[in-house]
Amino acid sequence: MKLSEKIKKILWGYRLIFRIDGKYMFYISLKSAVSAVMPFVLIYFSSAIVDRISTGTSFGVVMRYVIVLLAAEMLLNGIKEIAGARSEIHQSQWQLKQEQFYCDINNRMPYADLEDPELQLLKNRIRSNQNATGAGLDTQITCYSFLLTAFISITISIFMTVGLFVNMAESGSQSADLVNSGTFTAAFIVFMLVCISISVWSSSVKFRKENEEWRTLPESNRLLHYIRSNLSNNLWAMDGRIYKWDNVVMDEIYKYTRDPKYIGNIYRIHRRYGTINMAAMGVMRFFLYMFVGIKVYYKAFSVGKFIQYVGAVEQLVSNATNMFIYFGILLNNVAYIEDIYTYCSHAETAAAKDGDVSEGTIRFSNVYYRYRTSDRDVLKNVDLELKEGRKYAIVGENGSGKTTFVKLLCGLYKPTSGIVSMNGTDVSTVSPTRYYDKFSVVFQDFSLVSASVGENVACDMDQDRERVYSALDKAGFSERLSKMSKGTDTVIYREYDETGEEISGGEAQKIALARAVYKDSPYVILDEPTASLDPVSEEEIYSRVNEMNSDKTVFFVSHRLSSCKFCDEILVFDNGSIVQRGSHEKLLSEKGSKYFSLWNAQAQYYV
Ligand code: ADP
Repeated sequence: MKLSEKIKKILWGYRLIFRIDGKYMFYISLKSAVSAVMPFVLIYFSSAIVDRISTGTSFGVVMRYVIVLLAAEMLLNGIKEIAGARSEIHQSQWQLKQEQFYCDINNRMPYADLEDPELQLLKNRIRSNQNATGAGLDTQITCYSFLLTAFISITISIFMTVGLFVNMAESGSQSADLVNSGTFTAAFIVFMLVCISISVWSSSVKFRKENEEWRTLPESNRLLHYIRSNLSNNLWAMDGRIYKWDNVVMDEIYKYTRDPKYIGNIYRIHRRYGTINMAAMGVMRFFLYMFVGIKVYYKAFSVGKFIQYVGAVEQLVSNATNMFIYFGILLNNVAYIEDIYTYCSHAETAAAKDGDVSEGTIRFSNVYYRYRTSDRDVLKNVDLELKEGRKYAIVGENGSGKTTFVKLLCGLYKPTSGIVSMNGTDVSTVSPTRYYDKFSVVFQDFSLVSASVGENVACDMDQDRERVYSALDKAGFSERLSKMSKGTDTVIYREYDETGEEISGGEAQKIALARAVYKDSPYVILDEPTASLDPVSEEEIYSRVNEMNSDKTVFFVSHRLSSCKFCDEILVFDNGSIVQRGSHEKLLSEKGSKYFSLWNAQAQYYV
């Protein structure tokens, strides 16, 4: 990747961090800026105080300098403390805010993308890199802090060192002329640059090599993640007891913790490059002290300036090294930012549509659907009109394409070819959120969250209590609700709240149903949420839903034909196609048809 491309990605990363938590960036900036300025305050005032003392300035004036220095240090320390504490608070919330961000991205991503195994893999990679080494956004934050400090420090040190080269020794002697000569200064600069280059080189090699060693560790972190998530699983404990699986895992852990390779390598890198760096810095300091000392001796500037120039140059060197190292890290980190960029770009495309639509006839025109991982069409040439206010049944054997059809209907999937339109508007041009607003769906594998019953029904912290009660009542949950300790404020499941109450699968289905009732959308879909119930209970629930939604368009999905015989129209799916449609009586009269044979096959269970 070209440097300009890399820089674009880095800037994108910073914009993202700013979007997730702008205040975090602000406090880090403040802390880094203050950290950069602080050493120079000390250098400047020490130099000034020494000068005042050596020139015999009055005690009062010297004290004034001391007091200003102390006051400035206190002020800066105070700001640094506050900014530090604030940024720590934001840091502690950073992971959660990132989760919130990814939730939002996932919500805005086409559902089919979210299911795409490649994108799942990318998501896992982003997570495991983030957890293992902070690669990605965390690294950008760290680099930002170091680079900002380095940039400010370098700028101030340059200003503070100018005098070192501009001020000339009092001429008169041959040696003073030599000190003032361009050759003397040039030789000093060359020596310094050589030492600094060696120091920067050795530090960055040390850093890179160390990182290469650490990079082998994500493997062990992946192991850690795997162990953590699985050891807590009771199924694991069950088989673990019977088969002593832990032996395998323990060996795997020993491999990482006992391997002297890592420890030895890291130690060697430290010793080798640390020594080179120390030697280069030592020689550099020797030249620096000599040069500045000689100039003081020949009265090019005062004794106090010695402190200023030596201090400023030291700052310059260490910050230039940091600048070099962290810029390198930032460039290496681009690969991880690229992953995040690719992942997020899936959400952006979905958000670009903002068309609206009003309800009416839904039309499928020559719709085909093929899953990305599949090599065959799961839905084939589906072509039909679904009229407002009617009750439809979607029936067929397992795997015949009912759920896929429903997901196309409610906008979760887009057709591979063909068009789904509502009231004449192509659904693919409509804002997904506006389209989802039109549907109340109870999926086969619906999900509830560990929050209060009321929040689960209203999907909002702010609920209309009356409507919540009425929805729960219609869904047949009233009796269970009356036994709940805090009514609709009772939290379901215990994962999140220890006072939570466990509920059965059937009760969960009723809450999910109440959620659909509460939403009060014009189209209602029940995608076999009753699959685990017996046929009689399913029929009861379906007819209850039918009664309470007399004015709505309702789709009942089932592989049990008896549950849906009351519907205005039954769509019979077979192998991805609609092979028959019509009322129960009409379909049953078509002897030898799919419906006829399914009905007869199932009838024995209902007698
Ligand atoms: P039904 O709801 O009638 O049981 P589905 O619509 O769930 O049928 O599935 C239709 C076909 O599509 C099945 O063969 C199923 O294996 C396949 N299928 C369902 N989901 C996926 C998926 N995410 N990826 C690949 N194939 C899928």
